[in-house]
Amino acid sequence: ENNSSLNFIESIIEDELKEGKHGGVVHTRFPPEPNGYLHIGHAKSICLNFGLAQKYQAKCNLRFDDTNPSKEEQEYVDAIKEDVKWLGFQWDGDVKYTSDYFDQLYTWAVKLIKDGKAYVDEQSAEVIASQKGTPTVAGTASPFRDRPVEENLAMFEKMKNGELPEGAAVLRAKIDMASPNMHMRDPLMYRIINKSHHRTGDKWHIYPMYDYAHGQSDYIEGITNSICTLEFEVHRPLYEWFLEQIYDGGIKPSQREFARLNLSYTVMSKRKLMQLVEIGAVSGWDDPRMPTISGLRRRGYTPESIRNFAKTIGVGRRENVIDVALLEFSVREHLNKVADRVMAVLDPVKLVIDNYPEGEEEWLDAENNPEDENSGSRKVPFSKVLYIEREDFKEEANRKFFRLTLGKEVRLKNAYIIKGESVVKDADGNITEIHCTYDADSRSGSGTEASQRKVKGTLHWVSAAHALDAEVRLYDRLFNDEAPDGHKEKDFKDFLNPDSLTVISNAKIEPSLAEVKPLDSFQFQRMGYFNVDKDSTAEKLIFNRTVGLRDSWAK
Ligand code: ATP
Ligand code: MG
Ligand code: MG
Repeated sequence: ENNSSLNFIESIIEDELKEGKHGGVVHTRFPPEPNGYLHIGHAKSICLNFGLAQKYQAKCNLRFDDTNPSKEEQEYVDAIKEDVKWLGFQWDGDVKYTSDYFDQLYTWAVKLIKDGKAYVDEQSAEVIASQKGTPTVAGTASPFRDRPVEENLAMFEKMKNGELPEGAAVLRAKIDMASPNMHMRDPLMYRIINKSHHRTGDKWHIYPMYDYAHGQSDYIEGITNSICTLEFEVHRPLYEWFLEQIYDGGIKPSQREFARLNLSYTVMSKRKLMQLVEIGAVSGWDDPRMPTISGLRRRGYTPESIRNFAKTIGVGRRENVIDVALLEFSVREHLNKVADRVMAVLDPVKLVIDNYPEGEEEWLDAENNPEDENSGSRKVPFSKVLYIEREDFKEEANRKFFRLTLGKEVRLKNAYIIKGESVVKDADGNITEIHCTYDADSRSGSGTEASQRKVKGTLHWVSAAHALDAEVRLYDRLFNDEAPDGHKEKDFKDFLNPDSLTVISNAKIEPSLAEVKPLDSFQFQRMGYFNVDKDSTAEKLIFNRTVGLRDSWAK
């Protein structure tokens, strides 16, 4: 499934266009239920549906499948709209809602009753379930299956008017209790829910089931290709049956199924993600460890990186599990091109240059991004006392340690070659200062012979007097199991990684970062890609590690 060939849905669409099916029109939709925040799996569906619209100069609707008022909220509607836009897509016309079609859906349900194709069943959910049969044994007909049309109409009216309690009755399609397809055994069309709906308020006491509402909504909107995930393949005959009953000319939508995205080391259902929020395992839906689109955004993922990820994994018909490392690769690859390089020391230790003049400072040139020739350069301050990374120094080290040690030379990035001389320790033996000397002729870019001298190892640093303080949040995987929801005996929450967040409160960063804005991304040289958290302020700078560098740079 490479980029130059068509995916199977594109092949179907191109065949349909050739045949003139749907009158040469392509019209897709993305139909989330507003019962939570979107996750990276939804991003696959968004990229597919909106991507098809872009490819065929066609339309894609955003339709909220808001048929269950007990789970849906305006907050989710707003978040979903923001996520779709942030990913770079624009829906056709106004946002659509299944609830806009409740009157039409009701009218069609009445028609089905009148046609003898639907009936009100007053049995409990448990009894109805017990009569379903098995794939090889036919179900048992409800005693209400053959009640007269007039009685069905009267009962359905009562359901609608709120005269019956929840669970007292349902409307069922009258199809075939012996069908080998269980979904055709008189499926539910409506149930009673006595709750306020976020858009229709208290107007309705009955709400349509997904299978009934979905295809009819597609028909109302003129959708040509209704694309859903593979588990709905067995619903397809029902989708077609419902359409057949009410079809009255125009575009007849066809349902197609593709393999959903599964990702290692995470869970991906709104219901499960909601549990993580509710038990406080994460700070919210947009916690940077969440696989939600809002979490990935806050973590530093770019829309391009998510769209590229979707392109890379492709669209197929076989279920598989994608390694989360592929998602990380896609953001690393994009940030490598666009993120400016800066110096930040996460675990600072003082480095004093004994032969550098006291009180002097220099502003040295630093290239912003070697991958982007238009990114320019900036000045970074250098002085006698610097911070370097504690792990970049060892008093004694073997020949493979290419960082600072006593008696050996390394280069300070964009600055000078230094040599380790001595250390100062506290009473417990911890190093509090490293002393070194520098080669004053070796400044990077100065063109001198000494500046060209090759030394193994380059360290990042910041000038102590000029550095800014920052909080840096390091994230690890939220789960320490590849398939947290793949265990029969255990709950996915048993696999939460207790070390998924490490907060560093005393990082030192170069002063060019004083004016950063939430979501700005940087490469902290040698440390990885970091972005500015949404809660960061000029008084308290906060960075999130988006992803580590695959390799620390060699030079
Ligand atoms: P969840 O239970 O994870 O919230 P859902 O399917 O109930 O998923 P919807 O809001 O109904 O969520 O989904 C909207 C669209 O997103 C549907 O067309 C659905 O097929 C698609 N979708 C959901 N999860 C995935 C996934 N993991 N991979 C690809 N598409 C997905
Ligand atoms: Mg759904
Ligand atoms: Mg769901």
